[in-house]
Amino acid sequence: VSSYEAVYATVLDNRELQHTDSGRSTRHIELQLPDNIEYHEGDHLGVLPQNPAGLVQRVLQRFRLQENHQVVLTASGLSAGHLPLDRPVRLQELLASSVELQEPASRAQLRELAAYTVCPPHKRELEQLLQEDQYYGEILYKRVTMLDLLEKYMACEMPFERFLELLPALKPRYYSISSSPKQVRDRVSITVAVVHAPARTGTGMYKGIASNYLAERAPQEQIPVFVRTPESGFHLPDDPQVPIVMVGPGTGVAPFRGFLQARAAMQQEGQTLGEAHLYFGCRNAADFLYRDELEKYAAQGIVSLHTAFSRETEQCKTYVQHLMTQNAEQIMDVLCERCGMLYVCGDGTRMAPDVEEALRTTYRSRYHKNEQEAAIWLDALQQEGRYAKDVWAG
Ligand code: FAD
Repeated sequence: VSSYEAVYATVLDNRELQHTDSGRSTRHIELQLPDNIEYHEGDHLGVLPQNPAGLVQRVLQRFRLQENHQVVLTASGLSAGHLPLDRPVRLQELLASSVELQEPASRAQLRELAAYTVCPPHKRELEQLLQEDQYYGEILYKRVTMLDLLEKYMACEMPFERFLELLPALKPRYYSISSSPKQVRDRVSITVAVVHAPARTGTGMYKGIASNYLAERAPQEQIPVFVRTPESGFHLPDDPQVPIVMVGPGTGVAPFRGFLQARAAMQQEGQTLGEAHLYFGCRNAADFLYRDELEKYAAQGIVSLHTAFSRETEQCKTYVQHLMTQNAEQIMDVLCERCGMLYVCGDGTRMAPDVEEALRTTYRSRYHKNEQEAAIWLDALQQEGRYAKDVWAG
């Protein structure tokens, strides 16, 4: 906790945003921040999660240890900085809060597992996993962990201390803040897509560490968090009259909820707002996150809502970039003629590149430019601080 200067925030609300028949889970989690912590719309909340009890139990079982046993760890050098050193610590606490237990095995870990394996055929199998294609296909893609391999290869005699040393520090996970302090100064919310799907190994379910940790927190529980302002300049323009275009399908809508709360507060103060367009996308009505709130803001003139449904009808899948292309004139007018702002948030693997491609194509046809000129235009928009991205790999 101390390494990120994290503070304890109290859970006020933890509710499901998806309709019961959507088959997926997205949680709206509201937290009370301590008095001395401030944030702005567009900031990130860093969360220090805990490994689930079941995963910790598997480690204890494999090494024939008891959760209540205490150990005192001593070490020198920076690589042990994430471990609680020189004080008695319960094994359960150590394994729950200090190390990543669900990361795919690294090559260094595989080499050590092989070195500690006394049975020659098993040792060979582990060594074969180091080959390029085997490593990518069987370990990295399927996210097979050191623990999975230790359970499979019982002849591996790796001591617990070595196992612990080889594990990386438990990383904080970041969430785009989905509220504005202009509504309630010391309350913050995040919008969390829960990672829970059939595992790529083919057996059981894969559950993401932090999203499931958060999904299971009940009101009044305390969780360690910290606020971080991204360097991408992802914040509302100083002048509320500057027109803005926001693109945020799925959980990408999170920071824009904060932006709209801020605009609602500014409207109430009597400020004049420039136009704001939100391009939101979902599969169908079942995963239309924050629908009531967004429609209320649209009715109050705080935003123009453009919603793309990708599964509403099987024949016609509409994504945000399709709606943006349909509204090309309006978007180009905001960005090129009226010095407006562009924000894109969410999936950085497919959605953001597709949106950028649609924007470049639109620019080319409207201004009769070539591909290179369109690329220079979008880059310049980013350089000038008029295009900000808040994207992550899914
Ligand atoms: P982890 O335990 O970290 O597991 C995730 C890994 O598992 C990924 O590599 C994924 O590819 C892999 N995986 C997924 N499914 C499977 C499967 N079936 N089988 C095997 N492997 C699988 N998330 C939000 O929900 N809302 C936000 O607002 C948000 N904002 C973000 C902002 C930033 C700047 C960044 C960097 C990320 C943001 N994220 C957001 C993502 C978030 O930080 C976490 O990465 C996400 O919640 C998953 O974390 P986890 O601990 O639950 O999963």
